[in-house]
Amino acid sequence: MATQMTDAHRRFLQVLMSHGIMEGSETRKLHRQCCEIDKVYYAHDKLDDFISTINSHLQPLFMQIRKGMSEDDGRAHYALVNLAETEITKMASDYTENELELFRKTMDLIVSSENGFASSTDILNLADQLKTKKMKKKEAEQVLKVFVEDRWLSERNGEYTLHTRCIIEMEQYILSNYPDVARKCNICHSLAIQSQLCESCGIVMHLPCVRKYFRAQTEPRCPQCNDFWSCDIPGMNRTDSQSPSKTGRTEKSTRRC
Ligand SMILES: [Zn+2]
Ligand SMILES: [Zn+2]
Repeated sequence: MATQMTDAHRRFLQVLMSHGIMEGSETRKLHRQCCEIDKVYYAHDKLDDFISTINSHLQPLFMQIRKGMSEDDGRAHYALVNLAETEITKMASDYTENELELFRKTMDLIVSSENGFASSTDILNLADQLKTKKMKKKEAEQVLKVFVEDRWLSERNGEYTLHTRCIIEMEQYILSNYPDVARKCNICHSLAIQSQLCESCGIVMHLPCVRKYFRAQTEPRCPQCNDFWSCDIPGMNRTDSQSPSKTGRTEKSTRRC
């Protein structure tokens, strides 16, 4: 049975709604603050219970607070997701037709790319090929900026990838609409956009999952096929670790993915 919502739950939901997405430590702080202000029972390890109480009340509204991971640093994030509209149509009220088409095409590029990024040049080249209404490059640049501000995309050095909020909201949509290219991480089993790929068996892992998984291994081997992991492990200097020459595949081990 669903537990009663208190003022603390309502306050928490309001703040999360106004942010759309919040980072894990911020969310934990908010949990504590809401419980203190409204003088309800607080335990630092009860955030998930607290959220599932809210979720049970959101269910009739087809809304849900979902937890996801940032593909950049592996930190947890919480986002309020609208389950009634699982497609890009949920963006429809906020953008024009050709802006949506640009977003869909950008998503195509990102999801089918090897590393989970699309360059601004490639995206801007799409602008005058839009079927709905062509866009000037300047205009498209402006639209991309808005997608970043609205946290559908994130940008790093002129390269665009999907924002954590977009991945949490659209995971199911992407998995069912890109069945040939969208893949799940072998470690955490959620959608992997920025990832590394095993050249032998084809499994993929998020970069933070790669980092975590291989931290405990003496030699990086694929969790699926046990072949040597040929990509650079993020945050780990292979040349400092124990002699990779033993594997006889030093050349491969320094390959950038
Ligand atoms: Zn993962
Ligand atoms: Zn493998």
